[in-house]
Amino acid sequence: MLVNILMKCSFFLSKLLKQFRLFLGCKGVAFMNGKNVTDMLTSYDKKNLTIATVCSHSSLQIFNGAKKEGFKTLGIVVGRDRQRVYEAFPLGKPDDFLIVDDYKQILDKTKELQEKNVIVIPHGSFVEYLGADKFIKLDLPTFGNRDVLMWESDRNKERKWLEGAGLVMPEEIKDPKKIKKPVIVKYHGAKGGKGFFIAKTYDEFKKRIKKDRDYIIQEFVMGTRYYLHYFYSPIQDNAYKLSKGSLQLLSMDRRDETTIDEVQRLGSIAELEELGIHPTFVVTGNIPIVMRESLLPKVFKMGEAVVEKSLGLFGGMIGSFCLETVVTEDLEFKVFEISSRIVAGTNPYTSGSPYSEMIQPDLSTGRRIAQEIKYAAKKDLLDKILT
Ligand code: AMP
Repeated sequence: MLVNILMKCSFFLSKLLKQFRLFLGCKGVAFMNGKNVTDMLTSYDKKNLTIATVCSHSSLQIFNGAKKEGFKTLGIVVGRDRQRVYEAFPLGKPDDFLIVDDYKQILDKTKELQEKNVIVIPHGSFVEYLGADKFIKLDLPTFGNRDVLMWESDRNKERKWLEGAGLVMPEEIKDPKKIKKPVIVKYHGAKGGKGFFIAKTYDEFKKRIKKDRDYIIQEFVMGTRYYLHYFYSPIQDNAYKLSKGSLQLLSMDRRDETTIDEVQRLGSIAELEELGIHPTFVVTGNIPIVMRESLLPKVFKMGEAVVEKSLGLFGGMIGSFCLETVVTEDLEFKVFEISSRIVAGTNPYTSGSPYSEMIQPDLSTGRRIAQEIKYAAKKDLLDKILT
């Protein structure tokens, strides 16, 4: 009897200790509602996994890549209209649809999804539609380290991470009265650049700022934009080797932003601003691009630095991430944002990019994610790439 009680106590204590270590991120893949991925995967048939995501953003590419690697796929949609759109793309549509009235309903469907051995591939719209707080707690194995959200969604933490890694970010102007050169004003929580504006003087800033919203003021970096798409594997070291795992550069794009990118058709920005017409930064699409090859070493160094820093800060990013950069006339990179999951800028490359072609023909980011899951499932390493 006493032995029994002691055994129960030690089992309970070891569980408690494990959860505490996980919470602290010692193992790298902490999960904040206390449930860890190993527990989530116990009931799973690892030879029969289903790749699932919300039908939006980069899902055609995710499903297409997963199918190429032999996975079953499941798309979550609100309403039948979306389903019709996906059915128009036989090679990109999911094998199965889960139709919900509202994305929050996904939370009520987790049991059903677990029975299908679902692994979630989160993209920007998935996190946005579900809500970051609910996404963090979602009781389904999810590709990537969910702890990264805390670091990328808080601008101060993001700066601590990126500058701590030695990357150069646009200068932040704390006092608007000190605006001496063009700045971009970014409202907190604004999606896709909505509401951002450029000011060149304090007067311009005063005229346009909405005082009831939180904002930051950043130096407007002059140069050309490159959005760099990396893939970090903590479990394979057959690419650009890091202290743990390895890094690939899969592609890069430039975002097409309305109205800033085409407004010159009507006149110079200065002329238009005098008429009260202000450019906006709303993303509407993505344009494929390559970079002069001599800049690639810097691209890898930056990718390496953010991954290495993330390992120390929160156990490390996993899988796809994107650095949003401007290259100045001195060929220096300034990084204004990081996105730690698949970005829609990878969509032009469903059948490979000029860079991924040098790794493997026909390799999209969606397919690379599926390959990582396939490899991890085979080697019993799923807990190293899912949270
Ligand atoms: P973000 O939401 O931070 O990705 O910014 C939206 C868009 O604003 C970017 O895609 C860029 O076109 C532009 N942008 C953001 N920050 C800067 C900056 N510091 N300098 C120049 N352009 C920027």
